[in-house]
Amino acid sequence: MVLFGSLAEKLQNTLRKLKSKGKLSEAEVNEALREIRLALLEADVNFKVVKEFLSKVKERAVGQEVLESLTPGQQVVKIVYEELANLMGSHESKINWASRPPTVIVLAGLQGSGKTTTAAKLAYFCQKQGRRPLLVAADVYRPAAVEQLKILGQQCQLPVFSLEEGCSPVDITRLSLEQAVKSGYDPVIVDTAGRLHIDEEMMDELRAIKGTIQPHEVLLVLDAMTGQDAVKVAETFHQQVGLTGVILTKLDGDTRGGAALSVRAVTGCPIKFIGVGEKVEALEAFHPDRIAARILG
Ligand code: GDP
Repeated sequence: MVLFGSLAEKLQNTLRKLKSKGKLSEAEVNEALREIRLALLEADVNFKVVKEFLSKVKERAVGQEVLESLTPGQQVVKIVYEELANLMGSHESKINWASRPPTVIVLAGLQGSGKTTTAAKLAYFCQKQGRRPLLVAADVYRPAAVEQLKILGQQCQLPVFSLEEGCSPVDITRLSLEQAVKSGYDPVIVDTAGRLHIDEEMMDELRAIKGTIQPHEVLLVLDAMTGQDAVKVAETFHQQVGLTGVILTKLDGDTRGGAALSVRAVTGCPIKFIGVGEKVEALEAFHPDRIAARILG
């Protein structure tokens, strides 16, 4: 999969020019940085993030050691790669597994972000690692979402916990935990209600679920294709509920990359997984260094 096509192409062009030069002047580095700046802004990366990123690269790249080295172009490329990876968190941020199972993972997000699909994908991912996940249908306002989760569960032979209509999400999650302890399920993955827009009710409900079951992870599912809007949504959720991480979906359809490159730097929340397709197996652990390498080719 080509990631962030246009950004990748522009960055690769700029860096190729640098690499081909024997010696580099500060002016040449500055010109490259200008091109990188434009490419990042066109990719919808948050402007503050771009500014900080460039100042870090510049600080490292125009030093004597780099410019007077035998391969200054390659050194600058390496610096850009490292700072790109740093921007996204540098290392993989793994699930915070509970020392005493079950690990409880709450998924939050706006409607359409891919939350229900991602719940099933994450359960499938954990199942492949030899775990026994339990999916919990706590989106009580949308019976279709409960049905969707049940169907996805059936397809992958994953158990789905749900209660009849009228039960509160807090009750559902609490009872699902009891069930998990009794039957040895781990992790418990809770699909909470999504709405079209952020509203107080949604935040209250999430806080109530969080307060009751004290999850080990509260992951926000974000549609990467919505760019900086996704970053704003993440900021709000993090301020109001407190997140432990983000899952970026639809990276396969995101041609720009603005959310992927900004969300960690803006919110401080690590991206833990990425969705790269509609199928249940299309979820990957997020490795900033590998993504940076894929962008730079
Ligand atoms: P929810 O309203 O947040 O629960 O969203 P859904 O789980 O129903 O997903 C909305 C749409 O996004 C569905 O058509 C999913 O198949 C699609 N979707 C979810 N994740 C991905 C992804 O990573 N890539 C692509 N291409 N589509 C996705």
